Amino acid sequence: MVEELNPFKISQQQLDSAAQIMNLDKSAHAILREPMQILTVNFPVKMRSGDTKVFRGFRVHYNTARGPAKGGIRYHPKESIDTVKALAAWMTWKCSLANIPLGGGKGGIICDPKMLNDTELEALSRAYIRAIGKFVGPKVDIPAPDVYTNPQIMAWMMDEYSTSVGYDEFGVITGKPIEVWGSEGRFDSTALGAMYILRESAKLYKINMKKARIAIQGFGNAGGFAFELSKRLGAKVVAISDSSGGVYSKAGLDYDKLAEAKKKTGELSAVKGIDKISNDELLELDVDVLIPAALENQITGQNADRINAKLVLELANGPVTPAADQILFERKIPDLPDFLVNSGGVVVSYFEWAQNMQKWYWTEDEVNSRLDLIMTRSFKSVIDTQKKYADAGKKISPRTAAYIVAVERVARAMKVRGWY
Ligand code: NAD
Repeated sequence: MVEELNPFKISQQQLDSAAQIMNLDKSAHAILREPMQILTVNFPVKMRSGDTKVFRGFRVHYNTARGPAKGGIRYHPKESIDTVKALAAWMTWKCSLANIPLGGGKGGIICDPKMLNDTELEALSRAYIRAIGKFVGPKVDIPAPDVYTNPQIMAWMMDEYSTSVGYDEFGVITGKPIEVWGSEGRFDSTALGAMYILRESAKLYKINMKKARIAIQGFGNAGGFAFELSKRLGAKVVAISDSSGGVYSKAGLDYDKLAEAKKKTGELSAVKGIDKISNDELLELDVDVLIPAALENQITGQNADRINAKLVLELANGPVTPAADQILFERKIPDLPDFLVNSGGVVVSYFEWAQNMQKWYWTEDEVNSRLDLIMTRSFKSVIDTQKKYADAGKKISPRTAAYIVAVERVARAMKVRGWY
């Protein structure tokens, strides 16, 4: 049978299997299988050539029973409504699992940002936020950066939104530069959150972090910071890769050397004097912890049998397909799901929004210690739920347990609001 790789269908399959196990109310299940609102916009941008080009963008509110929609904006030539819908669903579960007062949303523009100069990029970003202006706002939907968008783009969007409403509205968007009231600690919050989860799971699964070997797929924002931060736990990263391939050292890799070499050459495969491995080989290494931190659908029904790690930590969104999830579960390899592991980014985005709304700003230490509390609490809620079901004779994976916690909270909020 051909494996389903459509991200939205995967998100529905994951919900369906959790719904069955938790005996979710049929009406709640029906509401949660689809996004509440989808906006498609086609908007003009004047290009440097003098031509006007029409771009297509999306913004999805998946579920807002527990608070305003929250989720990033992606710029990608292959952006599709199904990807945006899936990511908006996962944002719903992520915010609910973290128990923060936000719902799930996501946005995107079909464009190739590498083909745009800064003036065009600014014009595109301002035009998009004007087009979706009535759909967003600090009490309605709060976007953030995602693939190929960044703090500068968030600053332009905040400025454009503020101009349209007639006053400064810093709380409309998060992931902003510090100068316009971004939060301390936001830049590495996703990887830092994942390190708190790694610390807790090492205790549970009895992995000695001082001797642990880690392999990371992806050397970007998420994977790169995870590499650097894993030093704090005493672990050694033995392999890391980017789109050009990977590098391996049994004795452990040096972050600073690799980061500098990558800066110079642009690609890890061009770094000299170190063993090379392919991305496929990296995934199958005999390590304690495997951290997929690049793309979706990396561990599939095709290679899950050959995964040799003691623990998989999903730092990327959707790196493990449902078929692979099942195989890892049967092989008793714990696979901690994306919407638990990478939730540090949205938690600190929530802190940024809360600070903007209160006009009261926190230090980096305050941000990090509050992040630690939330990540540790989320991890515990997943493990407690797994145990509760095991005690009742139903063995479930960490992903299913995380779904149960998250879906139950959203379903309860919809119930007391009278939606079903
Ligand atoms: P990024 O663009 O900074 O880095 C992506 C990395 O993946 C790059 O090193 C790139 O070379 C590598 N890569 C691309 N194709 C690859 C391939 N075929 N094989 C191996 N590596 C490949 O992106 P990021 O922000 O680090 O995001 C990575 C993942 O983490 C995505 O799934 C993203 O949705 C998820 N994530 C990121 C954040 C965040 O705050 N950055 C938050 C939540 C989730």
